[in-house]
Amino acid sequence: MTGMEKQLTTEVLVIGGGPGGYSAAFRAADLGKQVTLVERYPVLGGVCLNVGCIPSKALLHVANILSESKEIGVSGVTFQPPEIDKEKLVEWKSSVTSQLTTGLSALAKQRNVTVLQGTARFSGTHEVVVENEEGESAVKFENVIVAVGSQPVKIPSFPNEDSRLMDSTGALELKDIPAKLLIVGGGIIGLEMATVYHALGSQITIVEMMDQLIPGCDKDLVRPLAQKVKKQYDNIFLSTKVTAILAQDDGLKVTFDKQGTVVTDLFDKVLVAVGRSPNGHFIDAEKAGITVTERGFIEVDKQMRTNVGHIFAIGDVVGNPMLAHKAVHEAKIAAEVIAGERVEWQALTIPSVAYTDPEVAWMGLTEIEAKAQGIAYNKAAFPWAASGRSLSIGRKEGLTKLLTDKETGKILGAGIVGTNAGELIGEAVLALEMGACAEDIALTVHPHPTLSETLGFSAEMIEGTITDLLVKKR
Ligand code: FAD
Ligand code: NAD
Repeated sequence: MTGMEKQLTTEVLVIGGGPGGYSAAFRAADLGKQVTLVERYPVLGGVCLNVGCIPSKALLHVANILSESKEIGVSGVTFQPPEIDKEKLVEWKSSVTSQLTTGLSALAKQRNVTVLQGTARFSGTHEVVVENEEGESAVKFENVIVAVGSQPVKIPSFPNEDSRLMDSTGALELKDIPAKLLIVGGGIIGLEMATVYHALGSQITIVEMMDQLIPGCDKDLVRPLAQKVKKQYDNIFLSTKVTAILAQDDGLKVTFDKQGTVVTDLFDKVLVAVGRSPNGHFIDAEKAGITVTERGFIEVDKQMRTNVGHIFAIGDVVGNPMLAHKAVHEAKIAAEVIAGERVEWQALTIPSVAYTDPEVAWMGLTEIEAKAQGIAYNKAAFPWAASGRSLSIGRKEGLTKLLTDKETGKILGAGIVGTNAGELIGEAVLALEMGACAEDIALTVHPHPTLSETLGFSAEMIEGTITDLLVKKR
């Protein structure tokens, strides 16, 4: 090859240093493989650690404290209005992520994983070219794991070059706190960032093209969140499309089509959060013979193997849901298969959590899916207004829902909306994985008073043994 400064050979090459990539690299190294990890940015961690899960949760923690300090006023305890030092807040957020990314570099060193900074593209079935500021180098591999992630979807007709139009990365930078913020997309990113900016003082409008926030999640789980934010935000437009955004000196002029009614409004900033698209088209995959779908996904089997036997792919680039915990599980499978283990994807569910206020978490079958698949189910929904723990933290809007199979009694799905729902859903995931019935959860002694009891109570509702509520016999 001409112009190549270096040639490197490795047993396992991993492309992409996000949760998928670094987990795959570390697991493969632990299984005795010689591993090289290529990441285009100077730090490991990918979207999740640098511009996704972790910085958003750091800001959401601050948002929670800001709103709780107001809400506790009902107890007779009031605080002075907070002073927000935005620069310090951004510094603190960065320090949280850098503790983790520095830790990853140390873990890579300890495992003798060679980390190369640069952008990798396939040049053949067993070789990539890695390009960085110093030039190009070739890396030959026996096996490769593609973990190149995804990027925010852009709407081409929007003024994407205008700095007042942000994607999630821009929104997390917190360059300023706009007086009026429009969020296009009422999905998870839109709602999490709305929570942050509202707490910091922005007036929020959300526009969602479907007829509910977080489409795909059961309506009864979204309702408590929707009711709360309806009171807090300026507007929530459902079944509405943004038809134009015009960049003006005094702001971004936005035109909405609300099922035939056209409305315009002016915003200081707009966050576009309408989903993410996979990065499969940017790696010259065809040079290795890898099939990439039109949308940019790489198709894999249960062992994370692509159509090319020695090439694996994991994480956001292989499909929805685009979640870090999915990427990590897939990573371990790919690494273990390469190391000769007979493993495949067998997890029964991938839980979802929106870290909003209240949080919304769900796993297994949703009611929407159970109905669509014609599965007969029993359902219980325990209202947190009857939970001593929930009332003692000043909240009563939560709900814990359990779905069980009408024939076998086994747990099919669960959903929780309320404070710490994301922490609570883990028990339901384990119950599903263990093939538990409602009785198993009902007979599990949950500590009192806790929010975790609500899962026990919902199981007791199905069993007909609950005493904390009066459930009319059918
Ligand atoms: P990524 O994290 O995208 O990593 C891919 C890496 O590959 C990147 O570092 C990229 O620079 C690198 N790369 C790409 N192409 C090349 C190339 N050619 N050569 C070298 N390197 C390359 N998920 C959750 O589970 N929980 C959350 O709370 C959560 N919050 C989120 C909040 C936000 C704002 C966003 C945007 C996402 C969030 N996600 C969350 C999703 C989560 O970040 C992703 O699912 C996860 O990062 C996917 O991991 P990955 O390894 O597949 O890809
Ligand atoms: P999303 O798919 O969750 O939500 C996008 C929303 O935008 C949908 O509700 C969709 O109906 C709507 N939409 C699409 N086009 C639109 C348009 N033109 N006008 C108005 N609404 C429109 O995607 P996201 O919120 O961008 O997040 C991307 C992915 O990142 C998520 O799917 C998730 O996998 C991941 N993520 C996860 C977390 C978490 O786990 N807590 C947090 C953030 C992001």
